[in-house]
Amino acid sequence: MTQQTSHTLFQDALTLMPGGVNSPVRAFKSVGGEPFFAQSAQGAYLTDVEGNRYIDYIGSWGPMIAGHAHPDVLAAVNATVQNGLSFGVPNALEVTMAQTITRLVPSCEMVRMVNSGTEATLSAIRLARGATGRNRIVKFEGCYHGHGDSFLVKAGSGMLTLGVPNSPGVPKTLADLTLTLTYNDFEAATALFADLGHDIAGVIVEPIVGNANCILPAEGYLQHLRDLCTQYGSVLIFDEVMTGFRVALGGAQQLYGITPDLTTFGKIIGGGMPVGAYGGRRDLMQQIAPSGPIYQAGTLSGNPVAMAAGLATLELIQAPGFYPQLHAQTDTLRRGLQAAADEAGIAFTTTGLCAMFGLYFCEGPINGYADAMRSDSSQFNRFFHGMLKRGVYFAPSAFEAAFLSSAHGDAEIELTLQAARETFAEMA
Ligand SMILES: *Cc1c(COP(=O)(O)O)cnc(C)c1O
Repeated sequence: MTQQTSHTLFQDALTLMPGGVNSPVRAFKSVGGEPFFAQSAQGAYLTDVEGNRYIDYIGSWGPMIAGHAHPDVLAAVNATVQNGLSFGVPNALEVTMAQTITRLVPSCEMVRMVNSGTEATLSAIRLARGATGRNRIVKFEGCYHGHGDSFLVKAGSGMLTLGVPNSPGVPKTLADLTLTLTYNDFEAATALFADLGHDIAGVIVEPIVGNANCILPAEGYLQHLRDLCTQYGSVLIFDEVMTGFRVALGGAQQLYGITPDLTTFGKIIGGGMPVGAYGGRRDLMQQIAPSGPIYQAGTLSGNPVAMAAGLATLELIQAPGFYPQLHAQTDTLRRGLQAAADEAGIAFTTTGLCAMFGLYFCEGPINGYADAMRSDSSQFNRFFHGMLKRGVYFAPSAFEAAFLSSAHGDAEIELTLQAARETFAEMA
C-alpha cells in the first residue's frame, strides 16, 4: 500500500509540530516508520488519506467502543450543534450526563465534568490533598494518569526514597511528594503505609493496568489498597479513564466489587469528543468550588456537543447483551492469535478482560509490571508492521492495551486472524 500523501504531510508536520504530532505515541517512534494520516473512520475501520483501510484496534485510544462514526452518536452531535457550540452557562445535557454517570457507577454520588483524563486525575489528587490536608500521593509503576507534574515521576532507588521526575520541567520538590509502588505487591503497600500512611493524601491506581499493556490485579489486591486507605484515612482513587465503561458498564470497580472514594473518567464518556470527569463520595465532591474551597474550573467543561456525543455512546453501551457480545468477540480474537502464534512457534501470550486486551511476546503468566517488561519489543515491532501492511492497526507501542468495539464483527476478526497467521509465519 502506498503512503506517499501521509509521508508528505508528515514531513510538513515535522517542521511545524514537535515530532510532527500532537501526542507523542502517534509518531511511531517506538515501532519505527511513520504514522499514517486518517481521512475518515467508520465502524471498525480507519481510512487513511490514500484510501487504505485498516481494521482498528485502538479506537482513538479507547473512546470508540461503539465503533467509529456510529450513526446514533453522529445524529446526537448534529442535532446539538444546531443549537450552538458552547454556552458558558449550564445546559440540561450536563444534568443528564451527571445522572447517567451516578446511576451507572454508584460510588460516584456527585461528578464534575472536565475536558480530558489528565484534568480529571489532576483534579482528583488536588481534592484528595485538599480534603485530607496531606501532601503525599501514591501511584504504581507502569500506570499512566495523564501528563500532570505529580504523575511524571518514577520511583527513586529503595522503596521509601523520594520520587524523581521522569520529565524535565517537573520540579524535584513536587516529585518528592509522589511515592511509587510495585503493582500487585501486597507487602510493599503495607510497609509504605506503616511508615508514611498518615502523610498519604491518596492512592491513585488503574484498577487494571492498561498503560503497561494489560495487567490484571492479583486476587484481593484492590481490596488490600481499599483497606489500607480506609485504615489510614487516605483517599482511594480509581483511575478508570481507560477501564470505565470498557471492561463492564460499571467499570473495573463493579467487576471487582470495590468502592473507591473517587473515580476518574475520560475516553468513552466523551464518545470521541474531548471529555473527562471525576466523581465520588458526596462529602468529598462537595469540597470542590463553588460548594467548597478546593478550586477547579473549565471554560468549556460540560460542553453541550461533547455531552451529546458522550451520552449517545453511554446509551449504546446500555443495550442488553452489549458487553457479553464484546467479551465473546475479544475472546475469539485472543484465542485465535494465541493459536496462530503457537502454530508458528512464537513465544506469545495475551491477557485481557472484556473488550480490553494485551499482547505479549513472551511466555505467560503476566502477574505484574516486571512480567510485562519481559515482552520482546523487537518481536512486537515486527508483528506491528506485519499487521499494518496487511491492513490491521494495533497500537504503535508494545506497552499499550488494545481495544475492540461492537463494530468488530466476525468478518473483521477472521481478517485479523488471517493477517496474524501470515505475519507470525513471516516472523518465525
Ligand atoms: C488516557 C489516560 C489518561 C489521560 O487521559 P487524557 O484524556 O489523554 O488526558 C489518564 N489515565 C488513564 C488510565 C488513561 O488511560
